[in-house]
Amino acid sequence: VKNLKKYFPITSPFSRTIGHVKAVDGVEFDLYEKETLGLVGESGCGKSTTGRTILRLMEPTEGEAIYRGKDIFKLKGKELHKIRKELQMVFQDPHSSLNPKKRIGDAIMEPMKIHNIGTKKDRMERALDLLLKVGIREDQFYRYPHEFSGGQRQRIGLARALAVNPKIIICDEPVSALDVSIQSQVINLLEEIQENFNLTYLFISHDLSVVRHMADHIGVMYLGQLVEKAPTDELFMHPLHPYTQALLSAIPLPNPKIKKERIIIKGDIPSPINPPSGCVFHTRCPHVTERCKIERPIVKEQSPGHFLSCHLYD
Ligand code: SF4
Ligand code: MG
Repeated sequence: VKNLKKYFPITSPFSRTIGHVKAVDGVEFDLYEKETLGLVGESGCGKSTTGRTILRLMEPTEGEAIYRGKDIFKLKGKELHKIRKELQMVFQDPHSSLNPKKRIGDAIMEPMKIHNIGTKKDRMERALDLLLKVGIREDQFYRYPHEFSGGQRQRIGLARALAVNPKIIICDEPVSALDVSIQSQVINLLEEIQENFNLTYLFISHDLSVVRHMADHIGVMYLGQLVEKAPTDELFMHPLHPYTQALLSAIPLPNPKIKKERIIIKGDIPSPINPPSGCVFHTRCPHVTERCKIERPIVKEQSPGHFLSCHLYD
């Protein structure tokens, strides 16, 4: 993903554009096959919008998303339809992907039908098989979503996403709505499924502990920008960006030898309508200098695989 931008226009009552919400503003990252890239950040930082534009659930304002040599953002018609099969999404709230009026078996078969996969009998067999794989009994096939718990609905949502044999699944806060006791079950299932289906995940979450468990690499987002990205262990051992340092200081470390103090970030996240000049984090950064207020730091590779945008390390 290169220089991804998604600006939402703000219109006056006369439909004149009077400004933009810069939901995603120049995000870049690589997503490696069979790996998991975690995207973390507080709500409103642009994580979900990033995921949704890559799937073309919304159109990007600018940028490229190169997948197997083709720019997803430029695809149309048949080509886009074809690629949609390979990129699926699992949502935080499976209500939004499961039609309450549709039996879950039909919900799982639907994407196969849309993509013309197999006969009706094939589709039914595959749906039953997928249900078993996500831990739902076959005899639940004709039941409706409301007859299941949140965790079970998330399993069904996953079965539906798997139905078309995708390569990449964008998981948007897949366990955030679940009880903590259920979260780990769904996380284990996601890992198992990744292994068995050779999947690549873009794993979006505000929960650093969950992302740490799941991800091979982690990208930290703040106000529409990716401020730091590194392999998971590297990020946790050597967080460099002041925002990452503050986020990590708030969660318990498994290594008690590392002494840490909780870093409190002052103030609220500024509005994405008029994001701060220079470095987007400058209004809250404990290390802010005059330069930070004027000049937007560019992303640099600090050590192999560890990317960062902050003037402190120049
Ligand atoms: Fe803080 Fe400046 Fe680095 Fe931004 S560029 S994170 S304001 S030190
Ligand atoms: Mg979100």
